[in-house]
Amino acid sequence: VSRFDVVEQGPPIEVFQLNKLFLDDPNQVKVNLTVGAYRDENGKPWVLPVVRSMEQQLAADKTLLHEYLPVLGLEKFTTAATSMLLGADNPVLASGRAFGIQTLSGTGGLRIGAEFLNKHLKYTTFYYSEPTWENHHLVFVNSGFTNPRKYRYWNPKTCAINFDGLIEDLKSAPENSVIILHACAHNPTGIDPTHEQWEKIADVMEERKLFPFFDSAYQGFASGDLDRDAWAVRYFVQRGFELVCAQSFAKNFGLYNERVGNLTMVVKDAASAAPIKSQMTWVVRGMYSNPPAHGAHIVAQVLSNKETFDQWRGHIKMMADRVNDMRQALRAELIKLNTPGNWDHIVNQIGLFSYTGLTQQQCEYLMAEKHIYLLKSGRINVCGLNPSNVQYVARAMNDAVT
Ligand code: PLP
Repeated sequence: VSRFDVVEQGPPIEVFQLNKLFLDDPNQVKVNLTVGAYRDENGKPWVLPVVRSMEQQLAADKTLLHEYLPVLGLEKFTTAATSMLLGADNPVLASGRAFGIQTLSGTGGLRIGAEFLNKHLKYTTFYYSEPTWENHHLVFVNSGFTNPRKYRYWNPKTCAINFDGLIEDLKSAPENSVIILHACAHNPTGIDPTHEQWEKIADVMEERKLFPFFDSAYQGFASGDLDRDAWAVRYFVQRGFELVCAQSFAKNFGLYNERVGNLTMVVKDAASAAPIKSQMTWVVRGMYSNPPAHGAHIVAQVLSNKETFDQWRGHIKMMADRVNDMRQALRAELIKLNTPGNWDHIVNQIGLFSYTGLTQQQCEYLMAEKHIYLLKSGRINVCGLNPSNVQYVARAMNDAVT
């Protein structure tokens, strides 16, 4: 008898479970459209060249030690990350109304941001889009939020945003609800509000006194341009909102396992910064004490040097372009096959993901019969496609829907 006999098997995490099924599948034709990580045109993970060369530089730097970072992280990194999000010339930076806290990638930013809002502002209700990244719910509940709510986002009939539903749900949200907003490249639908729609969202949030919590996991991936992808966050700041934004450098730097993130906070009064930071110090101290340094050094160095920064922007543009090429290719193949239905949404959607509109049954067919792995919601990671497999995937999708 063990004291651990009481522990029951937990449910699997869908995306990792499917990834394992893919890896274990001996069939050569298999295609992996599951995990949200970039793959090159050969289906391989890609270490960004600017990251590789920065790592070599760091390895040779004898002044870099393995001493603890401060609890709130490497200042050079948080400053660079905050200014990348808000724009270097944003007046809130100069006035001391914006600052960053280093976090364990995007997830860690959501986690400490949520715990802080719950503990110190006593916020208990949060809203996430239906559908959203599957971890938002768990992270906020674990941070002390007791009232999870959804706002409508996706209209399956039109494969587009359900904007009226979204607005209606925000209008009925209680004051001080925390609204999780995807800064760009919405996961899983690949659909972002237009500028006019963001303006309307801001109007309602202002009127209803709701709190914006941006989740920025894909800056650069939506349009290939960092500034354009930060439009919504910058717009809310310009409107005078106080807000937080969890930034991930997993995707745009390809630093998935280094856990590099930043929580940008924007406040009305620069005098709030010091008490907030002091309380954040205790939130972090009690959770993991201080953050890891390696990835933060890489990002800080790349962002603070014009040459490497431009090189990195080039890498992002290349990744975003490749994803878009694959969207075009998949749609073109489906049209060539006369596949029933309209596939325009595949090219209208942006970012890494496409919400294909395939039913769960069709997805199961693709996995069981065609060795193509995708989430049962119909979400595919578009960069799992490449010139060698896109025709095969299109034919399989065609078989699945006919
Ligand atoms: N938010 C969204 C919408 C995501 O898609 C992801 C990753 O898939 C994350 C946050 C967090 O990623 P990470 O913790 O790896 O930075």
